[in-house]
Amino acid sequence: MKGEYKYVIVGGGLAGASAIKGIREHDKDGSILLYGAEPHRPYDRPPLSKKLWFGKKKVEEIFIDPPGFYEENGVELRLGVKAVSLDAKAAELKDDAGNVTRYGKLLLATGAAPKKLPIPGGSLSEVCYYRSLDDYSRLREKAAEGSSAIIIGGGFIGSELAAALSANNVSVTMLFPSPYLCSRVLPKALGYAVQDDFIKRGVRVFANTSPSSIEYRNGRFTVTASDHRLFESDMLIAGAGVAPSVELAEGAGLILGDGIDVDTRLRTSDPDIYAAGDAAYFPYRELGRRMRVEHWDNALSQGKLAGENMAGAGKEYVHMPYFFSDLFDFGYEAVGEVSSNLEVVADWEEENKKGVLYYLKGGLVKGVMLCNVWDKVDEARELIRKKEPASPKGLMGWIR
Ligand code: NAP
Repeated sequence: MKGEYKYVIVGGGLAGASAIKGIREHDKDGSILLYGAEPHRPYDRPPLSKKLWFGKKKVEEIFIDPPGFYEENGVELRLGVKAVSLDAKAAELKDDAGNVTRYGKLLLATGAAPKKLPIPGGSLSEVCYYRSLDDYSRLREKAAEGSSAIIIGGGFIGSELAAALSANNVSVTMLFPSPYLCSRVLPKALGYAVQDDFIKRGVRVFANTSPSSIEYRNGRFTVTASDHRLFESDMLIAGAGVAPSVELAEGAGLILGDGIDVDTRLRTSDPDIYAAGDAAYFPYRELGRRMRVEHWDNALSQGKLAGENMAGAGKEYVHMPYFFSDLFDFGYEAVGEVSSNLEVVADWEEENKKGVLYYLKGGLVKGVMLCNVWDKVDEARELIRKKEPASPKGLMGWIR
């Protein structure tokens, strides 16, 4: 089928959904088509590894907008359908249902896909590369009290799901190559303290441990570690990072970096094509460099701005997205460059439990983590924006 829309959005996640609102702020009735590869209308992903497991949200509460929203806003949803090729010169998109669609402006909010473990058994269909609502539903069904799970990866997905599953009385074993949990963002002392808390709560943690093969037989997984130790379980979940989904952009010859290259207005190397969310490699003004941000607030704010710009607003992306995590009683919000490779100054009210971490590079604050300290993200943003030399002493008590 041939069709034509003023706006086409590829991606049924938060960035895609937010773009609708951005477009409608400036264009009340231009036709909009949204593609979602999953069969569900856009939903929030954070609850998949947090609130849904703690009874704080129900599945029907994670959808971004009610079903009527799309009709009311004149948006056609094409769900469970994948856009498979993009011809930027002809401004045409083909999908796997045989449709050819012409667009005026196009948004690539294609997100990111889990990286498969490059080991024998890593591509078995029974291994859960946890990312989607369907992954949640399948895991929830299997995660009966007393069952067991191996989680490979000690990053965001690994740590949050380990907390979620063990709070649901699943026996959890974690394996990951780094020396301690969440080692990319947490400084050493805090990372070990959080890890000790996991262990006290019954999670079996095997740091410095890489899997070398996975077998699945008679409903049970066996993971062999590189030191030949064997681990067995009923479920196997992997959170080994994600890669931006750039296939459409690449096929169309758009410029790529660590994702789809966009300018400050989120426009790709083709003036009619924008990108936002996990896949967008954008100039992060306050940090003075390009990067991708794989978190909720970035998808929300970039999607909205890209939509506005597709409808002619011409705004620059200056927002500093924050992110958050919950690991049993340790919760945090963070903004900026939060990398354990930087110098980290800690201002604890209660050591490794409540306080503020400042991430410094060249004497300037580049990132802030607010540990069990809430509603202070704007103060953290202000501090990073100031770009003034900061001393550890001067930072004490800066945010309270
Ligand atoms: P991640 O946070 O990058 O963590 C990846 C983990 O996998 C690390 O522990 C890494 O170890 C390990 N790993 C990498 N290759 C491995 C291998 N071959 N064998 C064993 N372990 C390996 O990624 P993620 O946890 O998969 O999360 C996926 C995405 O979801 C990310 O974009 C994340 O930002 C997003 N997410 C965000 C939140 C949040 O904002 N709270 C929550 C959930 C998910 P090393 O560190 O040692 O390399």
